[in-house]
Amino acid sequence: MSSGRRTFGLQLALWYATLFVSGAVAIVFVTYYLTATSLAQRDHQIINGKLGDYAAAYLRGGVRVLANTVRSEQQVAPERLFVRVVDRGVESVVLSNNEGWDPGKIEIVSATLADGTLVQVGKSTEARDDLLSRFRAVLGIVTLLVVVIALTGGWLATQSALFPIRRLTTAVQQIIRTGRTDARVPLDGTGDAIDELTSLFNTMLDKIEGLVTAMRGALDNVSHDLRTPLTRLRGTAEMALASPPAGEPGQQVAYYRELLADCVEESDRVLVMLNTLMDISEAESGTMQLRREPVPLGDVVARAIDLYRDVADAKGVSLSASASDAVVVTADRTRLEQVAANLIDNAVKYTPPGGRVDVDVRREGDGAVLRVRDTGPGIPSDELPRIFDRLFRGDTSRTERGLGLGLSLVKAIVEAHRGTVEVSSEPARGSTFTVRLPLG
Ligand code: ADP
Repeated sequence: MSSGRRTFGLQLALWYATLFVSGAVAIVFVTYYLTATSLAQRDHQIINGKLGDYAAAYLRGGVRVLANTVRSEQQVAPERLFVRVVDRGVESVVLSNNEGWDPGKIEIVSATLADGTLVQVGKSTEARDDLLSRFRAVLGIVTLLVVVIALTGGWLATQSALFPIRRLTTAVQQIIRTGRTDARVPLDGTGDAIDELTSLFNTMLDKIEGLVTAMRGALDNVSHDLRTPLTRLRGTAEMALASPPAGEPGQQVAYYRELLADCVEESDRVLVMLNTLMDISEAESGTMQLRREPVPLGDVVARAIDLYRDVADAKGVSLSASASDAVVVTADRTRLEQVAANLIDNAVKYTPPGGRVDVDVRREGDGAVLRVRDTGPGIPSDELPRIFDRLFRGDTSRTERGLGLGLSLVKAIVEAHRGTVEVSSEPARGSTFTVRLPLG
């Protein structure tokens, strides 16, 4: 893995270096070519210019005038030129001081005049060659420097570019090795693409950690809370198996039927508990399938009220609903009905006869509000922070039926809909549960 990363870094560095060096070498070549051709052009221009001058001088006064011109020019001219006149192919006169001329390093241009005389002007290429060879040496050193800079620069640049990725990889490796999902990769704070990736990665870890914690919590609670009903179930079944009761066969059948009914009741309890726990976990982890559609909140409340009307009447609790306007939310209708039903169920369940339960739906700002108010015993302040915990049941509520999962499910569903639920309660003055949901 690490050698793979190193190879990748090296490859990247080599790529950058190759591109950089190729560019630099191309510039060096073009510069050299342009300099060499422009120097050669300049020499040609000088030679041609002089050839014209000398041919004119020869035509004016023959070899003598030309010799004078050449001599006087060569005293002041910075560059010596080679001049030769060949008179109709017979007599050849060299008019310049030809000392030190290297015949291999001389560039000659000739012109044949009207009388057949050949005038030749030459210029040594030595100075030019010397300049170009020095230029080549300098360019060579520059190219070498460019290669070194490109390689080290490329290496350093890729190393620093790969550093955050390496840190990310190390963090992932550590998490895989230790199984600890609470490790986080620190952000550079530069806000660049790597920072964005790191923060996405951290968010993913947050999510995974949340899921793992929720699953662990759910598993702990389930194993703890299943023990009681399962033990009861086993006890009931054992009782049925152990001692056949004395008495009439009819009485025996009734006895067994009762025990079997107890078994069914206990297993129902276990099933409901498991299903609710699964629902809560799914809602909390964001994996709950929500069939979202526009739902009038008033309809949801009306259905829940219908469901509990008889129970409330039988208990002597007055149950009333008021929906001030048509409040429509985009939500899963069945899940919202579970929310309303659980809150109304609790309110009716914990409110003593003669009490009142009021449910109201209204629009507040850009949200929908569902409020369930009761005149029950209220919730003690030390229990208030825990009522939404899984399997929590208030001390005084244990006489009532329930699993301690209703409010956890309410909270999980509401939050899965990006809403909030809160409670305000004072002992002996009743409780108010307020659910806020974003409007559809
Ligand atoms: P359950 O009702 O099954 O016990 P819940 O999760 O619905 O479980 O509620 C948790 C606890 O919160 C209850 O045991 C009870 O103590 C308290 N509680 C909930 N609603 C009310 C209410 N309307 N009035 C008083 N206490 C309540």
